[in-house]
Amino acid sequence: MLEIKDIHKSFGKNEILKGVDLKINKGDVVVILGPSGSGKTTLLRCINFLERADKGTARFGDLEVDLKNATKKEVQQVRKKTAFVFQNYNLFNNKPAIENVMEGLVIARKVPKAEAREIAKKALDKVGLFEKYDYYPSQLSGGQQQRVGIARAVALNPDIILFDEPTSALDPELVGEVLNTMKEIANEGTTMLVVTHEMGFAKDVANKVIFMDGGVIVEEGTPHDIFVSPKEIRTKQFLRRVL
Ligand code: ATP
Repeated sequence: MLEIKDIHKSFGKNEILKGVDLKINKGDVVVILGPSGSGKTTLLRCINFLERADKGTARFGDLEVDLKNATKKEVQQVRKKTAFVFQNYNLFNNKPAIENVMEGLVIARKVPKAEAREIAKKALDKVGLFEKYDYYPSQLSGGQQQRVGIARAVALNPDIILFDEPTSALDPELVGEVLNTMKEIANEGTTMLVVTHEMGFAKDVANKVIFMDGGVIVEEGTPHDIFVSPKEIRTKQFLRRVL
């Protein structure tokens, strides 16, 4: 369903991604772990063109694109197949929850407003925020704001949702509700690629865990492979530090 080949990305002289390959099947929940600065977020951002890679290809089903030279049309095609959940929610503060969820449907997907409203209500219901549909972001907790961010992604019904450290900006007591929401949508068969430092989520929800360090994938496998019997010394050292 998604196959990435040989992504490279530098910022100035700093080579951040040094040739990353990735294969994700429909329904997979893939978690990317790794130390700060290892390139996890950059990888995610290159996949849907929030950053331009210096090299690499991506195949989304039957759509194959060059991550460096994709045309505007190809970028739009990829964006139709993906949705992004940001660390800092990226909500419009001047719009209530429901309009935040509707925005992408109406503007990017050209869905008529009335229909978009119905889809948005269902998505908000899915994340447990149906009653708060007319609340503005400032009236919601961080966890609720992130759940609106997730509803916005779900509403687009993409082939894959990319989560960029979705709980890192939250107070610890609000992390659980967001992880539970992610678990619920994973259980419905949503294909997800998740950058996170939440080891519990990786262990319980992922079917594949990738450990990145220094711009490359060091090791990947099932949660059992990575957490119980990691093979690479760098993986072992990282896990020793974080567990
Ligand atoms: P973290 O877990 O801390 O978020 P990460 O593994 O997601 O780390 P990235 O956010 O991908 O790492 O960043 C990798 C490196 O690239 C960092 O050193 C960062 O400073 C650098 N970097 C990221 N974006 C840019 C940019 N737009 N311009 C310059 N350097 C950047």
